[in-house]
Amino acid sequence: MKPFQLASRDHCATDTIITIVTPSRKVLIGEGYCTVIAGPCAVENKHDYLYLAHHLKDLGADILRGGLFKPRTSPYSFQGLGRSGVDILAQARLETGLPVITEIMDVRDLDTLYPHIDILQVGSRNMQNYSLLEELGRLDKPVMLKRGLSATIEEWLLAAEYVLKGGNKQIILCERGIRTFEAYTRNTVDIGAVPLIKQLSHLPIIVDPSHATGKWKMVAPIARAAVAAGADGVMVEVHQDPDRALSDGKQSLTPENFARMATQLVRHAQINLKQAASQALL
Ligand code: PEP
Ligand code: MN
Repeated sequence: MKPFQLASRDHCATDTIITIVTPSRKVLIGEGYCTVIAGPCAVENKHDYLYLAHHLKDLGADILRGGLFKPRTSPYSFQGLGRSGVDILAQARLETGLPVITEIMDVRDLDTLYPHIDILQVGSRNMQNYSLLEELGRLDKPVMLKRGLSATIEEWLLAAEYVLKGGNKQIILCERGIRTFEAYTRNTVDIGAVPLIKQLSHLPIIVDPSHATGKWKMVAPIARAAVAAGADGVMVEVHQDPDRALSDGKQSLTPENFARMATQLVRHAQINLKQAASQALL
C-alpha cells in the first residue's frame, strides 16, 4: 500500500477527469486534453483584466487565471487587490464564459471566493498548509495543488491526500519547478514529475512553465516539453505589457507570444491524442 492511498493508481485505475461548467462552456482537465490556463500573475485593475480576458479567449485559452492574494516574498511588493478584485474575475467569467482560477491563501477568504471561482489554487508556499487543505477537502469545487517549493513527489501526493480524505476528489496537480542549486532560472522544472505522477496517481497534472523558469523565452519550449511528456495542460502568465506588470513581468508572455505557443501546443496535443487512440487499439 502506498502512503498516499486515495491519490494512488492502486485506488483508482482510471484517470480522474475534472469537468468545469460555466453558463456557456464545459472545460475538461485530464486524459489527453491539453487544457490551457492563461492570464496575468495578478489582477491589476478591471479595465486591463477584462481586455486581456477577451483577448485570451479569442486566442484559445480554456481557463483564465488571475491572482488576487499574492504570496510575495517581500511584504513591500504588490500584494494583489484582495477581496475587492473578486468582482473583476466574476465579470470576466460572465463576459467570456471561461472558468476562472485564483489562489486562496487563507480559509477566511473562502466565502468571498467560493461563489465566483471555478478552481481554487493552493500555491507552492501553502502546499503543506494542512488546515487549508482540510477545509478545501470539504468542498465540491476543484482544487489546483501546486508543488511545494522543495517538495518531494511523496510529500506532494500526501498533501493531495489531505484534500481527498475530506471527500473532495477534484484535484489537479501542478508542477511549477522546484528549488535546486541552479540560479539561472527561477526554479528547476521537473519534467520527469509528469510521467512519474501519471504512473503513481490517477490525478491530472499540468505544468506551470512561467514560475518554473522565471523567463518568458523559456515558457513555450517548456510548455511543449510538458505536453510531450504527457501533461494534461499548462498554466502560463500573460500580460498585455510585461515591462509594466506589477508582478512577474519577466516570465509573462505577451498575447502575441501566447498565441504562438497555443498553436504549437495544439499540434502536440493532437499527437498525444492519436497515440492514446492507437494504444487503445493494441
Ligand atoms: C501563482 O501561480 O500565482 C504563484 C504564486 O505560483 P507559485 O505558488 O507556484 O509560486
Ligand atoms: Mn506569478
